[in-house]
Order: sequence, then C-alpha cells, then structure tokens
Amino acid sequence: MNTAPQEIAYYLERLFPISRSITGNGNRETLKILNEIIPLNISEVASGTRVYDWEVPKEWNIRSAWIKNNMGEKIIDLVDSNLHIVNYSIPIHKKMSLTDLSSHIHFFKSQPDVIPYRTSYYQENWGFCISYNSYKKKFADDTIYEVFIDSDLKPGSLTLADFLINGSSSKEYLFSTYFCHPSMANDNLSGVLLSAFLARELGQMKLKNSYRFIFIPETIGAIAYCALNESSMKKIIGGYVLSCVAGKGMYGYKQTFFENHLIDRVVHQTFKESGIDYITYPFIPQGSDERQYSSPGFRIPIGSVHKDKYHEYKEYHTSADNLNFVNGEAILKTLEIYLSIINKLEENSIVLSLNPNCEPQLGKRGLYPSVGRRTMNINKSNENVEADSENIELDTILWLLFYGDGNSSILDICEKHQLHFNNTLKIAKKLEQKGLLKLSFNC
Ligand code: ZN
Repeated sequence: MNTAPQEIAYYLERLFPISRSITGNGNRETLKILNEIIPLNISEVASGTRVYDWEVPKEWNIRSAWIKNNMGEKIIDLVDSNLHIVNYSIPIHKKMSLTDLSSHIHFFKSQPDVIPYRTSYYQENWGFCISYNSYKKKFADDTIYEVFIDSDLKPGSLTLADFLINGSSSKEYLFSTYFCHPSMANDNLSGVLLSAFLARELGQMKLKNSYRFIFIPETIGAIAYCALNESSMKKIIGGYVLSCVAGKGMYGYKQTFFENHLIDRVVHQTFKESGIDYITYPFIPQGSDERQYSSPGFRIPIGSVHKDKYHEYKEYHTSADNLNFVNGEAILKTLEIYLSIINKLEENSIVLSLNPNCEPQLGKRGLYPSVGRRTMNINKSNENVEADSENIELDTILWLLFYGDGNSSILDICEKHQLHFNNTLKIAKKLEQKGLLKLSFNC
C-alpha cells in the first residue's frame, strides 16, 4: 500500500470547493487535479451528440450568482457555497417581489441549518438554495429583491475520462465513479478519490485481470461512455460503482442483479473475514450508474460497497455532506477493503487434485502433524494457538484435496467451510509445490 490518509485528505481539500456539474470547466479542473494521481485519458463529447435515447446537453458554466435585498446587501452569494445555486441555472438579472421569487428558493424545513443540493439539468430553469434558518432571517414579504445569475448554457461538450490497466488475461473488470456533484464529500468526492487511488495502487501491481476505471458525470456520462465504447463495455465481466464510500455510518453493500455472482461473493467473503458489520441492499433499478451498465444490452453485474449509502444518511445531498463527514482515513479504509476484494478476483482458482484416487499419503510429504491431532469438532477454546493453527492447516489441506475434482474454486471452499481466503490460498500453493494439486485461474 503506497497511499497515506494525509495524501487523500490533501486532494479532498483541493477538490471540495470546485463547482462541478454534468458539464463545464469545474469538471475539467477536477480531472486535471486527478491527473496528478493517475494519467487519465480525457475526452470531450460535443453537445447535441446522440447517445442511445439521450442527447448530450449544452455546457453549463457559472461565474457569479447572488440575491440582494432593497438595502443592496447580498443575502445569498455563490461565493459562500456553490450549493447556493440550482445546478444548471440559466442567466437572469431582474428585480422581483418575494411572491415571484419564492418558487425559485429551495430549503429544507426539516433540516433548518443545511443548504439543500438541487439540479435542473433537462428543464431550463433557475433557482437558489439556502438553509431554512437563513431564509427566515433574511427574506421578508414586503421587500423587492435583485436577482443576478451570471451563467452560460450554450453548445460545448461533456467531459469523460478513463484509465485502463492491462493484466495478463483479457478478463476485464469495471470501476466507475461520477464527479458531477459540487461541494459534497461523501456523495461523491469519496468515490472519486477512492477510484483514483485504487487505480494508482493497481497500476503498480502485476495483475492477471484487466481493469477499466471510468470517471464520468452520473447518468448522461455513463450513457455517453457506453455508447462511445460499446464493444469494449460489452466484454466486461463485472464491476463496481464507487459512490458514497466514506461516511460516518455503517458499511453497506448493494448487490448485483444476480445477487450471487462472483462480484457479490468476493465482497461478502471480504466483509466476513474482516469482522466488519454491514448492511446488504438488494439490487433495484434505481441508484447510480449500475442502471446503465446492467441494462439489458450490457447486463454487466455491478455491485457497490457503501459507507453510508445514498438516501440513507441525513447529510445526503446537503451542505452537511462536507469535510467534517468524510476524511482521508475513512477513504483509505474502504480502499483497503477494495484491495482485498480485488485480491480475491485476482487469485481465485479452480483446484484440481493430481492424486485423485484415494487420499495421498501426507506424512511422507511432511504435511501431516508429527504429534497426534484433535478431532475436527473439538471445542477450539480448549486448544492452544499453535495446535489450533496446525489443525486448521490440516483441515484446509483435507478440504482442498477433497474438492480437487475440477469443479470447485478456493472461494467455494472458503465459503462452505468458513475458511480465510488468503490462508487457504497459501496452503493450496504449498500443495501445488508438493505436486498434489493444480491451481488454474479460470473462475
Ligand atoms: Zn448524488
């Protein structure tokens, strides 16, 4: 592991203030910064390009936005938070009463201290977001307000990026994240930085599988990427959407539509081995970009490890999803979980006994404990640690040889017998060295 939490925190702080959307210069600036972590392949798709049933929208850029009261005081200013503007607001400069203005002001009465996050991508509109407490303090019925939004909504392009890591086999897995949200940390700077640092870690390893990392604006970016890379995407075996990965709550896992695909099983095995409690969420056709990747034409099984999952935490889509809610340590912890998941995708192998006719004699190969052993059901608390690990090793040897008919993988055996993946793999490699087992990477 070459990633330190301080380095992740440094990028969190740099990326957090940037105004991002589904298009625009904030997205380019974000990718330019991520390019310091991994060399991204960045591309632009022109506004108006047809991508399946959708069309790439006009490009949006915002320079300034405020509302002044009749004393000339700015009572909302984009400078204070880029959540103050409804994302994709069209330009306006007008004086108006609160009656005319009120349908363009958004707040949460139930969470009076936070600024909500609002967008209007596909319907030309404008608006401001404010905390309910500020709204009550700063707005009055009998005042005329001056409203100013200096934005562009005109033909331009949508920015996409990917990073491909080639392993020794042609099997390819997908990691996708979206970077279209402005200043919010869990949704989804946590996913963006997890992706970048995970890609950097994998880029430094010798790998069997190939991995495709995609950085896109959610929904339209995923659709555009699929349309422009259709044949490559249709070859992908499975993958993960990295979204909301470092909040303060519990871990969760949103399953693939298969529910028990290898993509799911390596996640469950990893959580079980780590002793971390987590919530399992069934697949539903709502959520993030798994909706596109798992659609009938692609049918890529996609899972997502969350902490906390979107819609499940009160800070979600508000100004409270900030750098107090997410830190470098939490992102690093989820990165470690993903490295453990990937280790299983890399190492899971079919076991084939090279001595299938009755048991091989373990003793003459130094594989049987020299002193008599316990029976397999003995209460482990009565055993000393050394004898216990020797017994686990013998049990594992016996299971590996027993399942060596070419129909079971290391993961199958670990799941059935509550064994630790890496320990079982180590013992399987030892049996391979002794000429008793053949491991083939074909899962
Ligand atoms: Zn979101």
